[in-house]
Amino acid sequence: MTDVTRPREISVDPYRLEDDTWIDLPSSIEGRSRPGAPQESEQFWQSLRDGEVSFQRCTECRRYTHYPVGGCQWCGGPLRYEVVDGRATVNTWTLCLLEFGPGMETPYLAAIVNPVCEPELQLMTNLVRCRVSDVRIGMTVKPVIFNDDQRALLFYEPE
Ligand SMILES: [Zn+2]
Repeated sequence: MTDVTRPREISVDPYRLEDDTWIDLPSSIEGRSRPGAPQESEQFWQSLRDGEVSFQRCTECRRYTHYPVGGCQWCGGPLRYEVVDGRATVNTWTLCLLEFGPGMETPYLAAIVNPVCEPELQLMTNLVRCRVSDVRIGMTVKPVIFNDDQRALLFYEPE
């Protein structure tokens, strides 16, 4: 019989990285790639600069849509921006040790979160103000708006 390679026994909680590194807000967002600014997203970015999170909401089915588009992603209906509290749950995440773009301070946590107001939406973000070992899929996070007076980006921190 041939040797069978078996996976090593997992001796730690597989959902926990044993890494106590504190991930803070970046000291700067200067140099980071700028998201595109089509007309549909203008109000989203302006809201962030004003210190609020707002998503487009359908005037017909009342569901939220994100990223900003010209019509409701659920029914095609017309959209209006509405301020939301922005709370979300972590869908998935990863620790990034390499600078995958200009202006990125390593290490950082890249994540996809699901807004509580519309859990089927997926929002790409960075998790901040937490230890790597404390991040869990499903944990509740709240918005942290980084505003450097020229533009604002939406990050999330544990609630
Ligand atoms: Zn709709």
